[in-house]
Amino acid sequence: MTAEIISGKEVAQVIRQQLKEETGKLKQKGIVPGLAVILAGDDPASASYVRGKEKACRETGIHSTVDRVSASISEEDLLGRIEELNQDPSIHGILVQLPLPDHISEHRVIDAISPLKDVDGFHPVSIGNMVIGRKAFLPCTPHGIIRMLKSKDIPIEGSHAVIVGRSNIVGKPVGQLLLNENATVTYCHSRTKNMQEITKQADILIAAVGKKHFITADDIKEGAVVVDVGINRTEEGTLTGDVDFESVKEKAGYITPVPGGVGPMTITMLLANTVQSAQEGAE
Ligand code: NDP
Repeated sequence: MTAEIISGKEVAQVIRQQLKEETGKLKQKGIVPGLAVILAGDDPASASYVRGKEKACRETGIHSTVDRVSASISEEDLLGRIEELNQDPSIHGILVQLPLPDHISEHRVIDAISPLKDVDGFHPVSIGNMVIGRKAFLPCTPHGIIRMLKSKDIPIEGSHAVIVGRSNIVGKPVGQLLLNENATVTYCHSRTKNMQEITKQADILIAAVGKKHFITADDIKEGAVVVDVGINRTEEGTLTGDVDFESVKEKAGYITPVPGGVGPMTITMLLANTVQSAQEGAE
């Protein structure tokens, strides 16, 4: 059996086209969705992510601003900047690029963003609403994964979903969204015993570990849906996932590639949240 590939790139393109139409409709009402990004310091990876977000906004009809502030900015000044953006009616989404310089509390910064503009879905109010199934901005990578599964009509309800990784931005929320979709969810992490016994039960396996080729064909059952969230840099400078794609694709039913899988979905769901926020503001 060779797995069917779920191309995040293709699913993302379809969603971005729909978003472009939505921003077109908003424009007719005189509304341009606005995303404000704050980038503190000059970490090259963060700078590159932010450039990617600016380009994606431009292509979708979203107005974006980037505040490039010094790594030595005080926490007070950064919180003040967030408060200005909370009050700015032309801004519908606020994103503070992580990681932050060591002297700044990530918790205080995330808490300072208005939940009404929390398009990353990291604010405790957004997460709480997601857990209890209320309307919320959903975190982008987990939401993107659900949209990829749905694009192929993969049954989630009643399936056993196993998540390897329990970070606050990927592992935990993707498990919660799968639970909301009526999957039976098991989390594995660095203290899990006999992990292979668990991963082999998975109908849907999500790998969010951050370790190159951590999941091999021996870890999955025949026909499983395998979603690879990992982004790892190889010695040759290319990107590769947490899943050993070549061996796993011979056994899985569906598989997401790296690159071109979950990655393009993450930015797309950020755009979707920003458009949603502008639409809600217009109601
Ligand atoms: P974290 O480092 O925050 O979390 C990694 C998780 O993996 C932890 O829960 C950890 O367990 C678990 N883990 C580590 N080693 C093992 C092990 N040996 N066995 C079982 N579990 C283990 O990473 P993130 O969740 O932020 O990111 C995961 C990957 O996804 C990274 O490669 C990252 O670059 C990528 N990523 C990709 C995105 C995209 O858009 N495609 C977006 C965000 C992230 P414990 O909690 O016990 O320490």
